[in-house]
Order: sequence, then structure tokens, then C-alpha cells
Amino acid sequence: MLGEQIIKGMAVTARNFFGSYVSKERLTTVQYPEERLVPKENTRQFPFLVYDGDDAEKGLRCVACQICEKECPPQCIYIVKSKDKKPDYKGQPQLYPLTFDIDISVCMSCSICVEVCPFESIKMDTEFELSTDDRFAGLLLHKQDLAKPNSHYHQVHAQDAKDSDAVIAGEKAKAEAKARAAAEKARAEAEAKAKAAAAAAAPAPAAPPPPAA
Ligand code: SF4
Ligand code: SF4
Repeated sequence: MLGEQIIKGMAVTARNFFGSYVSKERLTTVQYPEERLVPKENTRQFPFLVYDGDDAEKGLRCVACQICEKECPPQCIYIVKSKDKKPDYKGQPQLYPLTFDIDISVCMSCSICVEVCPFESIKMDTEFELSTDDRFAGLLLHKQDLAKPNSHYHQVHAQDAKDSDAVIAGEKAKAEAKARAAAEKARAEAEAKAKAAAAAAAPAPAAPPPPAA
């Protein structure tokens, strides 16, 4: 029937509208900004950079690989790499971003930067109250604005953050096992070398006496 779906939609709206006077479950809106809904696990607004520990600079997971910068469809990420290196969460020396900017007036919240990051460094935040009358500087977020602790990640995306921690713990364990195996190999090689050197330095056995005439 023509318009059947419109009538069905209107019926749902009417049921919720009148039902909201008697049942709280039918009330689908809140008195914002006094009241706020808790964002759902999959809510995403703009990206932020995760850091571990208490020091945003030291604990920043980003290694300035620039993959996100290349893959961002509207090209709103700008990164300048450091010249020196600092240890990453696996203890390996890595570059870090001297500059990491995101122009959120251009960002389209697609989350591609999150998907391509191999270091669990960039995640989507749920913060949406970012309006400002400064169209340019006010919407250009710098590294210090973007850096947030892992505890924030757990607060906004609890399940994702747990999965991310598990990935990092797995990689750390793998790196530690590799380092242990390398140390063991080096120790065995050094032992073998020392044994060979000792054997080479030992005096040659005396020649047997000549037979009696
Ligand atoms: S969410 Fe999308 S548009 Fe925004 S910075 Fe990431 S890749 Fe770019
Ligand atoms: S956020 Fe991830 S993908 Fe982007 S530069 Fe840092 S480590 Fe690379």
C-alpha cells in the first residue's frame, strides 16, 4: 500500500511519544546539556594518541611511521619525525613524532588512521564538544592536545582497550623471548669459541720414544 512504511514509522514515533509519559524506557532523549547519555562502546568522534604511564612524551606509543598520515583520506594529519630515537613499548629504539597535528575541521571521523596503525597508538575519542569560534587554530589539535593516557582509552572503549593491551602484552612477550633466545645463542657461541681457543693453545702430546735397536 502506498505510504504504508510512513504510517508504520509515524506509529513508532507516536508510541514512543505518548508512551514516554508512562514508561521511562520510551523516553529516547535526555535534557542535554544537564543530562548526558553514556556513549556507546563503538562511538567515535576524532582521533587521539595513546600514551602509557604518567609521562605523555615518554610513554607516547606513536613511532612516527607516518602510515596514518599517508592513508588519511582528506590528508588532515601532519607529522614531523624526530632525529633521535627512544625505546618503544617493546624496548626497541624507535623514532617519535616531534610534531603530530590533526585538523579536526577536515577530519571525517572515518577511523582509517586507527585501522592502519601497527602500533596501537591512535584511537578514536568520544569527545564531541569541540565547537569554537576560532575556525583555524582552535580546530588544529597538536600532539599535546591529542595525547591521552591508556586509562582514558579504557574509559571510552573498555573492550577495545582490553584487546589492545592484550596485543601489546603478546608483542612484548614475543620480543622478550626473542631477546632471551639471542642471548642464549650468543652465550653458546662464546662458550664454543672459548673451548676452541683453549684446545688450540694446549701443548701438543709428546712424540713416542724410538724403538730399541
Ligand atoms: S579519522 Fe579519518 S579523516 Fe580523521 S584523521 Fe583519521 S583517517 Fe583522517
Ligand atoms: S599513529 Fe600509528 S600509524 Fe600514525 S605515525 Fe604513529 S605509529 Fe604510525
